[in-house]
Amino acid sequence: TYVVTENCIKCKYMDCVEVCPVDCFYVGGNMLVIHPDECIDCGVCEPECPAEAILPDSDDRATEWVELNRTYSAQW
Ligand code: SF4
Repeated sequence: TYVVTENCIKCKYMDCVEVCPVDCFYVGGNMLVIHPDECIDCGVCEPECPAEAILPDSDDRATEWVELNRTYSAQW
């Protein structure tokens, strides 16, 4: 799955939301998050983010954000 990380905070450009084929972005606090069970790992959103906030969960920089994406997206 892909995860939204630090650079999204107070950004919310929403470009990623528009391209996601399964609409798995949700608003979580002051950033967007990706629902890990709904994301189909297509990768389309990653280059669309102007803040470069979206990373695959396999990326070391994403590790600390995995749980937050799961928690916030589960509220919806
Ligand atoms: Fe949506 Fe694809 Fe990005 Fe997952 S990788 S959040 S399915 S656009």
